[in-house]
Amino acid sequence: DNMAKRVLVTGGAGFIGSAVVRHLVATGATVLNFDKLTYAGNLASVGPVADHPNYQFVQADICDAEAVRGALEGFKPDTVMHLAAESHVDRSIDGPGAFITTNINGTYVMLQEALRYWRTLGSAAQEGFRFHHISTDEVFGSLGAEGLFREDTPYQPNSPYSASKAASDHLVRAWHHTYGLPTVMSNCSNNYGPYHFPEKLIPLTILNALDGLKLPVYGTGENIRDWLYVEDHAEALALIAATGTPGESYNVGGLNERRNIDVVRTICAILDEIRPDAKIGPRENLITFVTDRPGHDARYAIDATKLTTELGWKARETFETGLRKTVHWYLDNRAWWEPLRNRYAGQRLGLAS
Ligand code: NAD
Repeated sequence: DNMAKRVLVTGGAGFIGSAVVRHLVATGATVLNFDKLTYAGNLASVGPVADHPNYQFVQADICDAEAVRGALEGFKPDTVMHLAAESHVDRSIDGPGAFITTNINGTYVMLQEALRYWRTLGSAAQEGFRFHHISTDEVFGSLGAEGLFREDTPYQPNSPYSASKAASDHLVRAWHHTYGLPTVMSNCSNNYGPYHFPEKLIPLTILNALDGLKLPVYGTGENIRDWLYVEDHAEALALIAATGTPGESYNVGGLNERRNIDVVRTICAILDEIRPDAKIGPRENLITFVTDRPGHDARYAIDATKLTTELGWKARETFETGLRKTVHWYLDNRAWWEPLRNRYAGQRLGLAS
């Protein structure tokens, strides 16, 4: 089989990165997790593979060229999957600096060091090597009521976060066209599922609803996101890294468009059913509308036809099955989220995409 064998994963202690690491180790790859462990990084999310002989971890910054070089030369990957990023839109509005540094400069360092390493390889290894850059559909901007984001949709990023990711996507494209580095890229819609940081919409809603706390919803809750179960995304990423065509990009999405208010209502209904609580009552009553995020994009939706037809990917979960799994996971994994939630209790009203 042609799946990747030695994979350097950046950001492997994050939400999506940890799902990628768990998936790769489970499917027989050897993985080096390269992560700085910012507030968003959590080694407990790779706990299930921590003692596996095919798993290694290094705590380092992707902006540190020497550390990146050392990891590449020491580990000798055939594939780099680059997920490390500052990823929280609200934080990018309050403090864009870290987004520029990590997402743009950090990706530049990753590309330069990957190119240097790639040039040292023999021709067969050069041909098999892939640098997979993981990005977001937010680079395409906001959709009206109609249409879907395709790979050739023009870039129109609106937030400091999406602008920094758009910049990194352009660097990746240039390193392929200018230097011949075998890159692949993917742009994905909103992920949800196990190990999602408790400041984001779905886990925040689950945990607040569980305790009978207020459920903040931006604006009127009409904003539409296209949700993808994180383990479906991890599988798509492994497939793209192994079989994607160099120089190409692939959109990843599950055709699960939902208004934010409906996501919150569905979580309330699931919890009312599986954890009814007379003191709390119907959890929909906890919904509280809060001042909208500045520049809040109205609608994101992905056309993943290229990925499904060319590479044969298909999501396993519908939004209903994935959301139910996610609610159960949070009920069963208090030990994972409780320390994080307490650490950031003061920021509990911060809502993320
Ligand atoms: P996350 O915030 O949960 O995790 C990011 C990880 O990167 C953390 O472990 C953090 O410690 C690490 N990191 C941050 N800065 C670093 C640095 N300078 N050096 C090394 N490590 C660093 O993010 P996520 O939600 O898992 O997203 C992963 C990637 O996928 C990002 O590139 C993001 O843009 C992209 N993406 C996310 C979504 C989503 O819905 N979450 C959707 C599409 C694309």
